Amino acid sequence: MKNNVQFAINDQIQAEFESAYLYLAMAGYVESLNLSGFGHWLRLQWQEETMHATKLLDFLLKRGGKVELKAIAAPPASFGTPLQVFEAVLQHEQHITQRIHKLYSLAVSEKDFALQTLMHWYIDEQVEEEDNASQIIEKLKLIGGSGPSLYLLDVELKNRQPEAEAAK
Ligand code: MG
Repeated sequence: MKNNVQFAINDQIQAEFESAYLYLAMAGYVESLNLSGFGHWLRLQWQEETMHATKLLDFLLKRGGKVELKAIAAPPASFGTPLQVFEAVLQHEQHITQRIHKLYSLAVSEKDFALQTLMHWYIDEQVEEEDNASQIIEKLKLIGGSGPSLYLLDVELKNRQPEAEAAK
């Protein structure tokens, strides 16, 4: 594996762990507002991001690359209204999508075919991530983001199941 490819993968591992840390911070925040369904959704997101990071780590190891974990920045402790929380989720996922596309471009320019195949999974996953966040934003806008409707949305989000597909 080329050094610049290895560096970029390690960089993306950091970005995925940073995502995980951000969503765990958000889970803690919304749970402090008694929104346990939102908290459940964000905790599942935290777990998914950890899986995204370890999937890259496993790939590095299989290819004989070197794992070099980097420091993770501290996330904020407060995120505003539930709508603002999910707008921040979407914004963050859009940022991650750009990073994934950049990593794919590198895999193409370096003719790293195995990384290209792996990146197809991440590219598809980002479509889902952005769609999931957008759907919750639309629902929050629809209900005005507070009152009994917010409680009902909280109950709905509590039903989110872990993604079986993600573990593969
Ligand atoms: Mg991710």
